[in-house]
Amino acid sequence: MNYTLSLTRHTAETLHGHLLGDRSREQMAVTLCGVNRLHRELRLLVRDVILLPADAFRPQSAAHLELKPEVQAFIHARAHRHGLIEVDWHSHPGAGPTIAFSGTDDRFEAAQAAYLAQRMDGVPYGSVVVNDDALDARLWLSDPAGTRPAGAKHRNGKAEPGPTHTAPPVAQPLQAILIGDLARRIPVTAQRLNRAHAPFVSPVFDRQVRAFGPDVQRRLSTLRVGVIGAGGLGSALVAHLARLGVARWVLVDPDVVELTNLNRLVGASVADAQRARPKVYVARSTIRQAVPKATVRALKTDVFDPCAQRALKACDLLIVATDNHSSRMAANRLAVQYLIPLVHAGFNVSVDPTGDPASARGGSGVGVRRVTDVSGEFAIPDLGRWCLQCAGIVDPQAAGWELASPAQRAILRQRGYVADTPAPAVGHLDGVVAALAAAEIHNLVAAFKPQHRYLTYDALKAELVPLSVGGSAHKVAAQAACPVCSPDDGVLGLGDLEPLPDYRRAAQAQLPAPAQLPPRATGPAPIDLPAPSPAGPAATPPAGPAPAPELVEVRPARVRRLQEALVETELDWRE
Ligand SMILES: [Zn+2]
Ligand SMILES: [Zn+2]
Repeated sequence: MNYTLSLTRHTAETLHGHLLGDRSREQMAVTLCGVNRLHRELRLLVRDVILLPADAFRPQSAAHLELKPEVQAFIHARAHRHGLIEVDWHSHPGAGPTIAFSGTDDRFEAAQAAYLAQRMDGVPYGSVVVNDDALDARLWLSDPAGTRPAGAKHRNGKAEPGPTHTAPPVAQPLQAILIGDLARRIPVTAQRLNRAHAPFVSPVFDRQVRAFGPDVQRRLSTLRVGVIGAGGLGSALVAHLARLGVARWVLVDPDVVELTNLNRLVGASVADAQRARPKVYVARSTIRQAVPKATVRALKTDVFDPCAQRALKACDLLIVATDNHSSRMAANRLAVQYLIPLVHAGFNVSVDPTGDPASARGGSGVGVRRVTDVSGEFAIPDLGRWCLQCAGIVDPQAAGWELASPAQRAILRQRGYVADTPAPAVGHLDGVVAALAAAEIHNLVAAFKPQHRYLTYDALKAELVPLSVGGSAHKVAAQAACPVCSPDDGVLGLGDLEPLPDYRRAAQAQLPAPAQLPPRATGPAPIDLPAPSPAGPAATPPAGPAPAPELVEVRPARVRRLQEALVETELDWRE
């Protein structure tokens, strides 16, 4: 079993500033985490941060730190109320290439872990110790194998919480701390344990290793990349990233190759169109040309399919390269809820609808309309600060229209809300946007240039325009209280503790009856997908004795999901 912890860049900076600001004394902070349960991996996802001020401690010196009991109780209650896992951070002031938990840390944490496991039915407890140069991290579990001892039952695939734990929790090393967009720190214990493993670098990548080094190449070969949309743009991105050395893939696209795709679909042939070959299989062939031993999970389905969502939440990086808002919306939600870096890539080709397609120009005899826009963009949300939805890159209303049933769509089309004619597309535009996005993804690992989070390409002007979102010098305003990524009301870092919405059902249920749907010119847009419900389903009071006063706001649904996430079920995704 592997244990890791993910946090946003912003959270990492906040923690760093607090823990290593005043070096005269040990400092402490608490993070409360959601969880992403995967096959042989448990990822903790930092949702809340509590920075502890000087008056939270009894003694606070250069070598010792002890929280006041009432502060301790407040933190435990808050973690329990929201069904989150507590991970404590503290500093050992000073510098040095290594760091270790002290004997006092060991004794205190063992007692703390035993108390929490007892009180919250086997919930683990984590701790991180940092200095200027290094960190170490561990997770205390009463059940390190991830399966409950005698008493655990599986009924209809659901795990029953086991009996109260009596085995003392054991510390397991955290393998990695994943920060923001593919940055990471390896705790010293994990470094020691993993020293023997240095994966082989294939000579295929020799020319780029000469510039970026073997470590970047190893990292690329171990990243699991999820691609939503294997059309023109997606197939071009896949080709670039496979040649770059990405070797573990999840591909999600419901479509098959058609003749009209062949002007831009990388790797596709006329035979593929005649056989109606799934686009994800074409992309898999493209990958294997560069990396024959690549692990590719090719799923001919859409991103709303729970099977695809389970595969995607196991990825280290998500790429959404589709031409619609609904799949971007679902990808954005997955990225925010599971703290997975996300790259959106898209393009637009527009023509003047009033132009006459039959008019000959330039003596060529070929009828052309006036092309008004040939452009593309990529965006990498700064999770914790902005996401595709609050930056306006995803339009929830348009997403709702896209997910209407065929009958509803006919009405929407009739009343002018949607057009079902295919949008124009051209291969060289896909190629430019894919190459720009691939370079930026390479840069996330290799850090060879300043980062661009949001870049647009205008082919008519041959112009690249970097945009920034939020902040003081923003050009694109981020919505203030984003229903997806706001730290209070959104789903940031909740992981398995919050169910993913059934977008299609929600959209179809919300579409008004035809009589209520005015023609588009006069009426407001009719449907909007629901905001996520971080509160979860209506809470039913927990059975048994009345809870202690500080636990009255407990969210049983989330606590139950946490328990389920900690138990291995048959639903786990296996590569
Ligand atoms: Zn310590
Ligand atoms: Zn947002």
